[in-house]
Amino acid sequence: MVFYDTMARQKREFRPLEGNRVRMYTCGPTVYDYAHVGNFRAYVFEDLLRRWLKFRGYEVYQVMNLTDVDDKTIRGAQSEGIPLREYTDRYVKAFFEDLDTLNIERAEVYPRATDHVPEMVEIVQRLLDKGHAYRVDGSVYFSVASFPAYGALSGMNVDEVMAGARVEQDEYEKTDARDFALWKERKEGEPYWHSPFGPGRPGWHIECTAMSIKYLGPTFDIHTGGVDNIFPHHENEIAQSEAATGQKFVNFWLHCAHLIVEGEKMSKSKGNFFTLRDLIAQGHHPLAIRFFLLSGHYRHPLNLTQAALEQSRAALQRLWDFRDRLEREPGAAESHPEVIALLDRTYKEFIEGGDDDLNIPRSLGALFDMVREFNAALDNGLAAKPEIDRAREMLREFDRVLGVIEAREPGGDERIEALIREREEARKRRDFATADRIREQLRAEGIVLEDTPQGTHWKRV
Ligand code: AMP
Ligand code: ZN
Repeated sequence: MVFYDTMARQKREFRPLEGNRVRMYTCGPTVYDYAHVGNFRAYVFEDLLRRWLKFRGYEVYQVMNLTDVDDKTIRGAQSEGIPLREYTDRYVKAFFEDLDTLNIERAEVYPRATDHVPEMVEIVQRLLDKGHAYRVDGSVYFSVASFPAYGALSGMNVDEVMAGARVEQDEYEKTDARDFALWKERKEGEPYWHSPFGPGRPGWHIECTAMSIKYLGPTFDIHTGGVDNIFPHHENEIAQSEAATGQKFVNFWLHCAHLIVEGEKMSKSKGNFFTLRDLIAQGHHPLAIRFFLLSGHYRHPLNLTQAALEQSRAALQRLWDFRDRLEREPGAAESHPEVIALLDRTYKEFIEGGDDDLNIPRSLGALFDMVREFNAALDNGLAAKPEIDRAREMLREFDRVLGVIEAREPGGDERIEALIREREEARKRRDFATADRIREQLRAEGIVLEDTPQGTHWKRV
């Protein structure tokens, strides 16, 4: 299994540092607003990574932080005149609801920054003691010049870093690279914590350093985020962590490309964003949104369009219909070697795809080829019961990674509607045996059909 490591700038063979257990840190949301679909591209990518590792037999221990104190959350709480915690709680709750909507698996731990201020203070103190940080009034800054490896992840030229020049904001451009705030002196009207350096609050970057080290140790396997996190956030995390512990921070850095809208990164600041809730209000199926987000390779920009969402919905319907058909078909009398070979080939290709830097589009290609060819085999009476069962089992297994096939509740309206459509088509071609079989199957599930001049209606009895 290989992953493209941003630090090495190439694909590397992946192995956990310790035994079978993968320790992974994923930068989580800043809970100042509803997450937009661009954010969910990152979270779905991380979910795929997590699920793939588990699918391939690893145990995963994933930590995702919740940034509930930073420039943006403080501004939000101030503008509503409510306590920071009350403000961020609202968006933490919304975030978890959205994760469920997109069938994203839960990480093992979701530490909140405000619950870990003592850990942050401890690391800032260590950096001061080791000469990697200095105080200016009540604030503490990291000295970039004290860490020669600074710039290795993002490829920036450290000579351009202005020695001694400082930046107080949490977010800034590469051209502004300079000493950054670890601890910010208390400002009137802002929440603050006590520390040996005086009252104040942590900078954003130190939050991730403190929480990753606390839950995963000084060195762990994988750290992820979107490409916008590479600089300054991850560059700063490496500097703070390695300067404090004297050990290598992360073995693999994985970053996803952006979700774009009309050629531009989707972001709050550009105003070109949709929340998950916006898309659902427009009538998009949550699983179709998930499918759309996982259908492009994570290192390629993904373009959000109505057409792309509709295509995802149609692709998903093909998978659902196939699943339902497999559950219905009695199977041919005999097995045929080419159908067995099709299943073997699909399984192998599905795994080769994901193992090659999480190339899920390639795995999906293999799956859709199978759907097409297996459907043809069913049409031609070539698929016997053991192959049908195996195909069905493969869908279940693949869906441990994809999370779009089984999540649709069995007996959901869409499935019933699809069956009714299939029955209608069967009746049109005067295949009354199939039409009757579908009616019987539905009846067995407690659903009765009523044919009227306006079409077929159904109800549960
Ligand atoms: P933020 O709340 O801005 O810190 O972002 C949370 C996560 O979403 C980070 O990992 C970002 O890299 C990621 N992210 C933000 N915008 C996009 C986008 N348009 N496409 C993909 N990932 C994004
Ligand atoms: Zn982070």
